Amino acid sequence: MSAPGRLRGARLLLGAAVLLAACGPRPEPFHQQRILAFGTLVDVSLWEVDEDRAEEAFHVLGQELNWMHDAWHAWRPSAVTTLNRQLQSGEPFVPDPATLPLVDISTDFALKSGHLFNPAIGKLIALWGYQADEPGKTPPDPALIADLVRQDPRMDDIRHDGSNLRGRNPAVQLDFGGFAKGYGVDRAMERLQAMGIRNAMVAAAGDIRVIGRRGDRAWRIGIRHPRQAGAIASLDMEGDENISTSGDYERYFEYEGRRYHHIIDPRIGYPAQGTASVTVVSHNGALADAAATGLFVAGPREWRATAARLGVDQVMLVATDGTVYMTPRMAERVRFEVTPPPVVLVVP
Ligand code: AMP
Ligand code: MG
Repeated sequence: MSAPGRLRGARLLLGAAVLLAACGPRPEPFHQQRILAFGTLVDVSLWEVDEDRAEEAFHVLGQELNWMHDAWHAWRPSAVTTLNRQLQSGEPFVPDPATLPLVDISTDFALKSGHLFNPAIGKLIALWGYQADEPGKTPPDPALIADLVRQDPRMDDIRHDGSNLRGRNPAVQLDFGGFAKGYGVDRAMERLQAMGIRNAMVAAAGDIRVIGRRGDRAWRIGIRHPRQAGAIASLDMEGDENISTSGDYERYFEYEGRRYHHIIDPRIGYPAQGTASVTVVSHNGALADAAATGLFVAGPREWRATAARLGVDQVMLVATDGTVYMTPRMAERVRFEVTPPPVVLVVP
């Protein structure tokens, strides 16, 4: 994550479609602002909201997103780094309320995913150089990787005793990077809804939540192509829905002709193989984000069973060989944006 901050004066009308709407006979009040948080520009779009209300909403969200960014940062001093020290000590402690919900929710997802989504592997993520603004340049020492894998840090190494937590495995180091943005966009959207806003989109790079509609149509969301510029597919979203995509193109380095990306298979301690990207649609942003990361690790062979255990039924996985795997519910609503369309396997 990079430094928190708010880009001021960046309210933009983006995209030809929006400009056309603004030039039409009945201009719709559309407002957009980009706020720097979670190491990315979070795009907030509001529809049918007047100017003053939009300004207020952007201000509130700027504060909320900065708070989350600071509290949940995995390597700069934060409530999460404090929590990691407390877990490391092995002594019981009362957790900071800023972090307890993340522990509880992510533990549930970790267990359901068979620990393929595993936020307890912060030490492995740091070893690979992904707890830094710039990723590493060479793979770490295999002996260090093997040692961490052997210690098998997992979310169920954190014991709950009433209101206390206690760490049972000193190898546990929490890194919520795999689901904090999805959880965060839900919280951000709750704030907008509490202000009476009914039509909005909050997009933190690959983690997006929409409510309502974009004027007289749904919100159209593009799913990034993992290997070329532009979208591989798109879909219309409305009501109250999230979409999260995890990709091996987000953060990676190349070494001796191989790509070493930021999604680590906890079973082997190396970047997960076989998947280029995974997209999950759900009514729960934290779940969509955690599932996208966990299914990325599960890969073409195990994603279907893992998705069922996590309770997500709208999934698209693009394998590194270009094959696209989808659930039937995802296949119903996705439109491919590439010609010829890819080889698709719909897996019930
Ligand atoms: P995402 O883009 O949501 O897939 O998140 C990727 C981030 O999740 C990485 O940068 C790490 O911080 C973290 N991460 C990597 N591997 C895992 C894993 N197996 N389970 C949970 N979090 C992970
Ligand atoms: Mg994720």
